[in-house]
Amino acid sequence: MRMPAIFFGHGNPMNALADNSYTRAWAGIGRTVGKPRAILCISAHWYVPGVAVTAMESPRTVHDFGGFPRELFAVQYPAPGSPELADRVIDLLDGTAVSDRDSWGLDHGTWSVLCHVFPDADVPVVQLSIDRDRPARFHYDLGKRLAPLRDESVLVIGSGNIVHNLGAYSWQNADIGPFDWAVRFDEMARSLAANDHDPLIDYASLGPDALLSVPTPEHFLPLLYILALRRQDDEVSFPVSGFDGGSISMTAVRVG
Ligand code: ZN
Repeated sequence: MRMPAIFFGHGNPMNALADNSYTRAWAGIGRTVGKPRAILCISAHWYVPGVAVTAMESPRTVHDFGGFPRELFAVQYPAPGSPELADRVIDLLDGTAVSDRDSWGLDHGTWSVLCHVFPDADVPVVQLSIDRDRPARFHYDLGKRLAPLRDESVLVIGSGNIVHNLGAYSWQNADIGPFDWAVRFDEMARSLAANDHDPLIDYASLGPDALLSVPTPEHFLPLLYILALRRQDDEVSFPVSGFDGGSISMTAVRVG
């Protein structure tokens, strides 16, 4: 069975503890997608020099944020790792990636979503870092090389946000309506996701809406890994929609 590939807009880390329309939609995806053999996650929050793959048996839960309540720091997502999947990813990436046995684990881009999608934490999870020194095209091409995993019962997920501007984010009122530029860019990304990916790879040339929506690349790049996994006969759908704090889009993109 070929697995889909899914980009999740993760938004505020507090979603890990929340019961809202986003987290319920994530749980619904978990119930319908079928149980994969393992998950490979490309998270915005492992944005480092170089390409690394978590290869430990038991990845720790990384609380990679500050200024949030104690209860968020208490969250654990004890999914096992999969050294076997890590080896397979390193093989597929053919000399580009190295294994990481101790520096990382599962960061909140991964666990704040997966604790709703697979609440039992019984599916092994491996993370792939995003090389911050490489251009968008490199990430799209790397995604293409991961394509065989979909036929090996591996669910590849990306976790970021299509629109992610914390400078414009309303911390006082997260329910504030979205900015016009955020809505326009999210819509543009949706229509391109189902068609031509080149303009999204070259997103910086898409004008002022893109520059406001993607002021830094790390939350946008996981989307490119997922789009790169689309095959010709794959449907592209958007199982989660909405905005948080005016400047974060919670759009999820499902390929296949
Ligand atoms: Zn984030």
